[in-house]
Amino acid sequence: MNSEIEATTKLYEAILSIHNETVPNHVLPADEALTHARESLQQSLSAHGIGIEGAIRHILKDLAPGFNAASRSPNYYGFVIGGVTPAAALADNLVTAYDQNVHVHLPKETVATNVEDAALSMLCELLKLDPTQWSHRIFTTGATSSNIVGLACGREYIIAEASAHRSDKTNSIGELGIMKAMRNAGIDEIQILTTVPHSSLTKAAGILGLGRASVKDVGLKDKPHKFDIPQLKKLLEQPGAASIIAISASEVNTGLYATSGLEEMQQIRELADMYGAWIHVDGAFGIFGRILTSPNHQTIIDASAGLELADSITGDGHKLLNVPYDCGFFFSKHRSIAPRVFQNPNAAYLSTGPAADTIATPLNIGLENSRRFRALPVYATLTAYGSDGYRDMLSRQIELSRAVAEFLDDSEHYELLAKNGLSKEAAIDQIYIIVLFRAKDEDLNKELVNRIKASKKIYLSGTAWEEKPACRFAVSNWQAEVKRDFPIIKRVLMDVVSDWQKK
Ligand SMILES: *Cc1c(COP(=O)(O)O)cnc(C)c1O
Repeated sequence: MNSEIEATTKLYEAILSIHNETVPNHVLPADEALTHARESLQQSLSAHGIGIEGAIRHILKDLAPGFNAASRSPNYYGFVIGGVTPAAALADNLVTAYDQNVHVHLPKETVATNVEDAALSMLCELLKLDPTQWSHRIFTTGATSSNIVGLACGREYIIAEASAHRSDKTNSIGELGIMKAMRNAGIDEIQILTTVPHSSLTKAAGILGLGRASVKDVGLKDKPHKFDIPQLKKLLEQPGAASIIAISASEVNTGLYATSGLEEMQQIRELADMYGAWIHVDGAFGIFGRILTSPNHQTIIDASAGLELADSITGDGHKLLNVPYDCGFFFSKHRSIAPRVFQNPNAAYLSTGPAADTIATPLNIGLENSRRFRALPVYATLTAYGSDGYRDMLSRQIELSRAVAEFLDDSEHYELLAKNGLSKEAAIDQIYIIVLFRAKDEDLNKELVNRIKASKKIYLSGTAWEEKPACRFAVSNWQAEVKRDFPIIKRVLMDVVSDWQKK
């Protein structure tokens, strides 16, 4: 086994070294590299092939210079993506080498499902969630699929709750379909009540036949990320409606959390219980706020407190956990709901381990049948760095975000956005890993994202805020280091202004 790992590691290192020679250390590829990569793409299948070496060489020399540095460069600040820890990167190569299919729990044949369960259990611990409570847990392909799984479980549960008065307990959407189950339950509308939802939540509602229009914004006028609780109650108590409450635990544009502490979560939990609603938390990256312990992070610690009162939680692996794509995770407290939604029926050849085993067969509790061993990089990285390691990584990312936010707020040329009327100090305190800003000069602001990207030194993504263009730093890389990275960011932001003024 050691020789296998050594061989894989050597191969990986060899590939990386050719790769590092051929890819310039810019966050974005040069235009010529993009053109060359596009023109050298093989467009149709050849009969004989060019051989392994030919194919790898072609990728490294022709195509790779046209890739962007989302994971390699700590100066990539777009879309809350990027960053792979060395432990996760190595383990991900082993995943390919071993080619395990983690679909059925077969304790006599493989420990793969045990590894997945251990990784998920450690992940629960990292996020201060009791692993015994979150008994339906599974790795997914990303937060989008976790949101689909969450809404699917919620949909099943709320229809069962609405049918609780019936003697026939098997009113199941999974079994009967949404129309019949709703009719049986006397429900004529399923609604998803939320604030500033991620686009993928609305996508999930569309996929699941609930409809994108079922997603209803219950935000306060002056603080759109916060719940208008009286309005929430009013919608919950509508006759004939069954509801999923979706909590955005750190929103992609601003990094703000929908709830601000345990008390507010308790209030929402009480309402949910009163009306048979399901609470789903979209905490793709926000759930990691629960790792923090320093008084400097109190606002984030408070905002991510109480999320354990939810029924289900979405998290992303390929964001702040810094494992390779494609990895998300899903936790739910309702183990019995899982097979009602995901049971893979009548496949005798996929029979599973002893029923008494606490580990469920993944294909009966999640979307996929055949599945990549995406648990292994998670297992490797959690084992390698532990909770202190992750706390340190996240703290450095917050420190960098706050340094940028402070610079922007002090600057005469830039404006820190989403301050919600807070003092500078309070606004900085609520900065997590996202910094939303714009240029004060309206004309510069229209070109700002492109001018920053054109530096090729840092990358960030554009968005809109209050109907005007805005820029967004999303720090999402374990390598973040304020001493090394902040001066680069500051230089680019200052140069963009001085170049504009010279124009
Ligand atoms: C990124 C993100 C998603 C979607 O995640 P994918 O991993 O891209 O599928 C969903 N919700 C939130 C809050 C996110 O930040």
